[in-house]
Amino acid sequence: MAYFKNSVQLRIRPKAEIITIGTELLTGTVLDTNARFLAQALTGEGFEVNRQASCRDDFGAIQKALKQSLEGSDVICISGGLGPTPDDITRDALAQFFSSPLVLSQRQYRMISRYYRVRHRTVPKLVSREAYFPKNARPIFNRFGIALGFTVEFRNKFIVVLPGVPNELTRLFDSEVVPVLRKRFPGICPASVLLVKTVGISEPTIMKKLGSDFFRLGTFQFGIYPEVGEVSLRIYSDSKMVISKLKRRIGRVLRDHIYSFSAEGIAQAIGRELASRKWSVSVAESCTGGSISKDIVSVPGSSRYFLGGIVAYHNSVKEQLLSVPQQLLQSRGAVSRRVAQEMARGVRERFRTNVGLAVTGIAGPSGATKNKPVGLAYIALSTSSGSNRVWKERFRGDRLQIQSRASKRALECLWRWLRRR
Ligand code: ATP
Repeated sequence: MAYFKNSVQLRIRPKAEIITIGTELLTGTVLDTNARFLAQALTGEGFEVNRQASCRDDFGAIQKALKQSLEGSDVICISGGLGPTPDDITRDALAQFFSSPLVLSQRQYRMISRYYRVRHRTVPKLVSREAYFPKNARPIFNRFGIALGFTVEFRNKFIVVLPGVPNELTRLFDSEVVPVLRKRFPGICPASVLLVKTVGISEPTIMKKLGSDFFRLGTFQFGIYPEVGEVSLRIYSDSKMVISKLKRRIGRVLRDHIYSFSAEGIAQAIGRELASRKWSVSVAESCTGGSISKDIVSVPGSSRYFLGGIVAYHNSVKEQLLSVPQQLLQSRGAVSRRVAQEMARGVRERFRTNVGLAVTGIAGPSGATKNKPVGLAYIALSTSSGSNRVWKERFRGDRLQIQSRASKRALECLWRWLRRR
């Protein structure tokens, strides 16, 4: 569970609330990633986010949520329901709430027309709705999509309304909303943030290593967040000096486990290590089914060091594509130290990379034997310089958890090995 370990109050900040609109959010069909993005972005800008609410595409529900938010907040960020379909009623519900008629933004309409023209289509009648905004609002032109966003000053509160499509929302927020918020709240002072990403260490061990005097190093809010195979820390303080002090202390006590002091994932940290040495890697995956490769290629520029991967699920594939000897597969079994080692060597030689990484294991729920339980996995590394290593692991959880833990641990092994070179 993620939680704040101390409840220190930082400097008073303008209060913000988030309202995400969409029936799909309340039926559980769509995960509310906009609320998460907005909460992080607003916190980063120096607002104190007090409440998040989601409501259905319903006039009454939208107006009620806004009414409640106006009571306690300086800024209200609303997302969703600005689309072309009849259930997208956010713009109409807000216009009615403000008693302000909807007017057409000629500029957004021209942008929409251009969008359709280059696709040799005419603007569908329903879509033109998306260029309307309440007369008392200022439009936020949307060059990333169709629906216009807008901001409204209302009873000395600032309301931001953005389309629900996540990648439009994030890009509009960063490029259009942040400058407006900074102008509207000139005194705003973002808290300094320290992010720490660790692997191979549990939350209680981190707390023990930090020790109780850690919390006497200054005034700060401390959050600790365990995820699959890793734990991150997020610390806020009004003082840059406190942040530097904490960073030094954390760096010292958690040194062996920190792969980053930024939001980057472990695959990025690995990419940095490989690229700086001009080394390449290839991956052979059995039980993880390609997820290690997927993580590696999620990093922009990974083609500089990642040559390819083989999902060697069936023994015949291990044999034919990775040159694992058939006799070894029969005598030791596919989930064994020696086979993992041969898979790593096989993939490295086939792709002619500096490093070969391999995983073989039993993700379950079936496939276990007396000596080989569900969750057993071997991770192997083979390098062109002759260094070979195998790690034996026993992961807990259901099939998906075992697979993601195995992927994360394999990446950790690679990262640790690279760090020591
Ligand atoms: P558009 O006109 O571009 O469709 P919109 O404002 O109408 O924008 P919605 O129709 O509400 O946006 O949603 C568009 C897409 O974005 C849908 O696939 C929806 O599920 C998704 N979406 C909406 N709100 C959220 C949210 N809070 N988190 C994640 N996805 C969301």
